[in-house]
Amino acid sequence: MLDGGALFGVIPKSLWAEKYPANEKNLCNLSMRCMLIIAEDRKILIDAGIGSKQDDKFFRYYYLNGKATLKGSLGKAGVAFDGITDVVLTHLHFDHCGGGVEYNEDNVPVPAFKNARYWVSRQQWEWALNPNQREKSSFLQENFVPVKTNGQLEFIDKNFELVPGVELRIFNGHTDGQIIPFVRYNNKTLVFTGDLIPTSAHIPLSWICAYDTKPLAAFNEKKEFLEEALKNNYTLFFEHDINVECCNLMMTEKGIRVGKCFTLNEFLSY
Ligand SMILES: [Zn+2]
Repeated sequence: MLDGGALFGVIPKSLWAEKYPANEKNLCNLSMRCMLIIAEDRKILIDAGIGSKQDDKFFRYYYLNGKATLKGSLGKAGVAFDGITDVVLTHLHFDHCGGGVEYNEDNVPVPAFKNARYWVSRQQWEWALNPNQREKSSFLQENFVPVKTNGQLEFIDKNFELVPGVELRIFNGHTDGQIIPFVRYNNKTLVFTGDLIPTSAHIPLSWICAYDTKPLAAFNEKKEFLEEALKNNYTLFFEHDINVECCNLMMTEKGIRVGKCFTLNEFLSY
């Protein structure tokens, strides 16, 4: 859970609470949805959740809830950790990459996916190793340094096609070098919106997280992205929206807004 004020920045609570309710402590409940893409001989995981390495004191602030785990969810899909060939980390904030590294029997942090290459943007990697004061507490070195130590790190420097139909594009408003994956499926495009648009409530342009390091860049990137998405009828997939997995967009007199909401399974079946 996260404080609703931090989640919606300058937007007054009277507006955001209608779209994304908070509890009595002003906390909004979020998901940490990852995505598995199976493409020919590759099994690609997008983001890895918060993981379980941190101590109780750390987790006390985030009120983890629900029973889903990465192991459980991948297991249901019939995929073992060792079967993952690629892990794309949109960025290195702990709620996106923590599950990518775990402690081994000797209490040493090691990559949880030992046969995978881990894809990170070079800008984000450098940012995470030498963090600015504002983002420092979001970059926990044990979440990503072991990936390099174990020789599993791959950089992308610019927009990049990981496999045919999976394009990784770079955005800088939330944090430098955030990767946003665009996935082609059945002649449709599904966009894993990461922290570019964390929930369906963040679609209006000025609804920007207080966490974003460059709010004006975030605003412009979102505007450009939403115009492209509306024009090409993209489906948005939300990592953090606990209620809405996917939606498409529509134009209204106030600007681009949520169109239809549906589940990922519904997207896959039509
Ligand atoms: Zn983030």
